[in-house]
Amino acid sequence: MGALRPLDRPTHLMDTDKVLVLNNSFEPLHVCSSRRAVILLFTGRAERVEDSPRILRSPSIVFVIPAVIRLHRYVKRPATPAISFNKKNILKRDAYTCQYCGRNGGEPMTIDHVVPRSLGGRTVWENVVSACRDCNLRKGSKPLHEASMTLLRRPSKPASVLYLGIMAHSPYRVMTWSKYLLREGRGELRGPHA
Ligand SMILES: [Zn+2]
Repeated sequence: MGALRPLDRPTHLMDTDKVLVLNNSFEPLHVCSSRRAVILLFTGRAERVEDSPRILRSPSIVFVIPAVIRLHRYVKRPATPAISFNKKNILKRDAYTCQYCGRNGGEPMTIDHVVPRSLGGRTVWENVVSACRDCNLRKGSKPLHEASMTLLRRPSKPASVLYLGIMAHSPYRVMTWSKYLLREGRGELRGPHA
Protein backbone atom coordinates (compact mmCIF):
# COMPACT_ATOMS: atom_id res chain seq x y z
CA MET A 1 0.00 0.00 0.00
CA GLY A 2 2.95 2.27 0.64
CA ALA A 3 3.44 3.22 -3.00
CA LEU A 4 -0.21 3.92 -3.56
CA ARG A 5 -1.13 7.50 -3.09
CA PRO A 6 -4.03 9.28 -4.72
CA LEU A 7 -1.98 11.89 -6.50
CA ASP A 8 -4.64 13.06 -8.90
CA ARG A 9 -7.28 13.79 -6.32
CA PRO A 10 -7.46 15.06 -2.77
CA THR A 11 -6.92 12.31 -0.25
CA HIS A 12 -10.09 13.12 1.63
CA LEU A 13 -12.16 11.99 -1.37
CA MET A 14 -10.84 8.50 -0.68
CA ASP A 15 -12.74 8.72 2.56
CA THR A 16 -15.93 10.31 1.25
CA ASP A 17 -16.28 8.38 -2.02
CA LYS A 18 -18.44 5.33 -1.48
CA VAL A 19 -18.16 1.74 -2.65
CA LEU A 20 -20.91 -0.87 -2.41
CA VAL A 21 -19.77 -3.98 -0.51
CA LEU A 22 -21.42 -7.29 -1.39
CA ASN A 23 -21.43 -10.34 0.79
CA ASN A 24 -19.85 -13.53 -0.59
CA SER A 25 -23.41 -14.47 -1.61
CA PHE A 26 -23.61 -11.24 -3.72
CA GLU A 27 -26.18 -9.73 -1.36
CA PRO A 28 -25.43 -6.10 -0.56
CA LEU A 29 -23.95 -5.68 2.90
CA HIS A 30 -23.08 -2.06 3.37
CA VAL A 31 -21.25 0.91 1.91
CA CYS A 32 -17.62 1.74 2.69
CA SER A 33 -15.14 4.43 1.69
CA SER A 34 -12.95 4.01 -1.40
CA ARG A 35 -9.99 3.85 0.93
CA ARG A 36 -11.45 0.93 2.87
CA ALA A 37 -12.38 -0.84 -0.38
CA VAL A 38 -8.86 -0.49 -1.77
CA ILE A 39 -7.45 -1.93 1.47
CA LEU A 40 -9.87 -4.87 1.27
CA LEU A 41 -8.75 -5.55 -2.31
CA PHE A 42 -5.05 -5.22 -1.56
CA THR A 43 -5.21 -7.47 1.48
CA GLY A 44 -7.05 -10.13 -0.49
CA ARG A 45 -10.22 -9.95 1.55
CA ALA A 46 -12.42 -8.89 -1.35
CA GLU A 47 -12.58 -9.03 -5.12
CA ARG A 48 -13.47 -6.36 -7.62
CA VAL A 49 -16.96 -6.76 -9.11
CA GLU A 50 -17.39 -3.49 -10.94
CA ASP A 51 -15.12 -0.53 -11.60
CA SER A 52 -15.87 3.12 -11.03
CA PRO A 53 -14.65 5.74 -13.50
CA ARG A 54 -12.20 6.98 -10.87
CA ILE A 55 -8.49 6.25 -10.99
CA LEU A 56 -5.83 6.27 -8.31
CA ARG A 57 -2.35 7.08 -9.62
CA SER A 58 1.10 6.69 -8.20
CA PRO A 59 4.41 6.92 -10.10
CA SER A 60 4.40 3.14 -10.61
CA ILE A 61 0.75 2.11 -10.47
CA VAL A 62 -2.51 3.12 -12.05
CA PHE A 63 -5.33 1.67 -10.02
CA VAL A 64 -9.00 1.82 -10.91
CA ILE A 65 -11.17 2.52 -7.86
CA PRO A 66 -13.98 -0.04 -7.61
CA ALA A 67 -17.67 0.86 -7.55
CA VAL A 68 -18.68 -2.56 -6.20
CA ILE A 69 -16.62 -5.19 -4.38
CA ARG A 70 -17.45 -8.64 -3.01
CA LEU A 71 -16.07 -10.13 0.19
CA HIS A 72 -14.35 -13.52 -0.05
CA ARG A 73 -15.82 -14.50 3.29
CA TYR A 74 -19.53 -14.87 4.00
CA VAL A 75 -20.63 -12.44 6.70
CA LYS A 76 -23.66 -13.48 8.69
CA ARG A 77 -25.94 -10.51 8.93
CA PRO A 78 -27.75 -9.52 12.08
CA ALA A 79 -31.52 -9.32 11.96
CA THR A 80 -32.49 -5.82 10.90
CA PRO A 81 -35.27 -3.89 12.60
CA ALA A 82 -38.50 -2.90 10.89
CA ILE A 83 -38.44 0.34 8.92
CA SER A 84 -40.28 3.34 10.34
CA PHE A 85 -42.43 5.25 7.89
CA ASN A 86 -41.36 8.86 8.33
CA LYS A 87 -39.98 11.79 6.37
CA LYS A 88 -36.36 11.02 7.24
CA ASN A 89 -36.63 7.52 5.80
CA ILE A 90 -38.55 8.63 2.70
CA LEU A 91 -35.72 11.08 1.95
CA LYS A 92 -33.15 8.34 2.56
CA ARG A 93 -34.97 5.96 0.21
CA ASP A 94 -34.88 8.60 -2.50
CA ALA A 95 -31.23 9.50 -1.77
CA TYR A 96 -32.33 13.05 -0.92
CA THR A 97 -33.10 13.54 -4.61
CA CYS A 98 -36.18 15.20 -6.07
CA GLN A 99 -38.06 12.35 -7.73
CA TYR A 100 -39.42 14.69 -10.40
CA CYS A 101 -36.40 16.69 -11.60
CA GLY A 102 -33.51 14.73 -10.08
CA ARG A 103 -32.18 17.74 -8.22
CA ASN A 104 -29.90 16.93 -5.34
CA GLY A 105 -28.41 20.21 -4.33
CA GLY A 106 -28.42 19.63 -0.62
CA GLU A 107 -31.47 21.86 -0.22
CA PRO A 108 -34.19 20.73 2.14
CA MET A 109 -36.54 18.38 0.31
CA THR A 110 -40.27 18.24 0.81
CA ILE A 111 -42.50 15.20 0.70
CA ASP A 112 -45.06 15.07 -2.11
CA HIS A 113 -48.10 12.84 -2.52
CA VAL A 114 -48.00 11.41 -6.06
CA VAL A 115 -51.78 10.95 -6.06
CA PRO A 116 -52.85 14.05 -4.14
CA ARG A 117 -54.63 13.59 -0.84
CA SER A 118 -57.53 15.62 -2.21
CA LEU A 119 -58.00 12.86 -4.81
CA GLY A 120 -57.84 10.09 -2.26
CA GLY A 121 -54.07 9.53 -2.34
CA ARG A 122 -52.87 7.81 0.79
CA THR A 123 -49.84 8.55 2.92
CA VAL A 124 -48.01 5.30 2.24
CA TRP A 125 -44.56 4.36 0.88
CA GLU A 126 -46.04 3.74 -2.57
CA ASN A 127 -47.58 7.22 -2.83
CA VAL A 128 -45.01 9.60 -1.33
CA VAL A 129 -41.76 10.85 -2.84
CA SER A 130 -39.04 13.38 -2.09
CA ALA A 131 -39.56 16.58 -4.06
CA CYS A 132 -37.78 19.91 -4.27
CA ARG A 133 -39.85 22.97 -3.41
CA ASP A 134 -40.13 24.07 -7.04
CA CYS A 135 -41.49 20.72 -8.21
CA ASN A 136 -43.79 20.44 -5.22
CA LEU A 137 -45.24 23.86 -6.01
CA ARG A 138 -45.52 23.09 -9.72
CA LYS A 139 -47.33 19.86 -9.09
CA GLY A 140 -49.63 21.31 -6.45
CA SER A 141 -52.67 19.14 -5.93
CA LYS A 142 -52.75 17.83 -9.52
CA PRO A 143 -52.24 14.24 -10.55
CA LEU A 144 -49.04 13.52 -12.51
CA HIS A 145 -50.51 13.65 -16.01
CA GLU A 146 -52.27 16.96 -15.39
CA ALA A 147 -49.05 18.48 -14.12
CA SER A 148 -47.16 16.96 -17.12
CA MET A 149 -44.61 15.51 -14.73
CA THR A 150 -43.05 12.08 -14.46
CA LEU A 151 -41.31 10.20 -11.67
CA LEU A 152 -37.66 9.10 -11.78
CA ARG A 153 -38.83 5.78 -10.35
CA ARG A 154 -41.91 4.22 -8.91
CA PRO A 155 -41.94 4.62 -5.13
CA SER A 156 -42.04 1.46 -3.06
CA LYS A 157 -41.45 0.33 0.48
CA PRO A 158 -37.76 -0.36 1.08
CA ALA A 159 -37.09 -4.01 1.75
CA SER A 160 -34.93 -3.39 4.78
CA VAL A 161 -33.12 -0.85 6.92
CA LEU A 162 -29.93 -2.09 5.29
CA TYR A 163 -31.21 -1.08 1.88
CA LEU A 164 -32.19 2.35 3.18
CA GLY A 165 -28.71 2.86 4.57
CA ILE A 166 -27.12 2.02 1.23
CA MET A 167 -29.48 4.10 -0.88
CA ALA A 168 -29.05 7.17 1.27
CA HIS A 169 -25.44 7.50 0.21
CA SER A 170 -25.28 8.57 -3.35
CA PRO A 171 -27.86 9.10 -6.06
CA TYR A 172 -25.07 9.03 -8.63
CA ARG A 173 -24.30 5.42 -7.79
CA VAL A 174 -27.84 4.20 -8.05
CA MET A 175 -27.47 3.13 -11.65
CA THR A 176 -24.30 1.18 -10.89
CA TRP A 177 -25.60 -0.32 -7.69
CA SER A 178 -29.23 -0.99 -8.49
CA LYS A 179 -28.71 -4.41 -10.05
CA TYR A 180 -27.06 -5.64 -6.86
CA LEU A 181 -29.75 -4.14 -4.67
CA LEU A 182 -32.29 -6.23 -6.56
CA ARG A 183 -30.79 -9.23 -4.78
CA GLU A 184 -31.68 -7.79 -1.43
CA GLY A 185 -35.12 -8.31 0.05
CA ARG A 186 -38.12 -9.75 -1.69
CA GLY A 187 -38.09 -8.31 -5.15
CA GLU A 188 -39.51 -4.99 -4.08
CA LEU A 189 -36.42 -3.05 -5.07
CA ARG A 190 -36.21 -1.20 -8.30
CA GLY A 191 -33.54 0.72 -10.09
CA PRO A 192 -34.33 4.35 -10.79
CA HIS A 193 -35.70 3.71 -14.26
CA ALA A 194 -37.05 0.20 -13.89
ZN1 LIG B 1 -37.57 18.98 -8.41
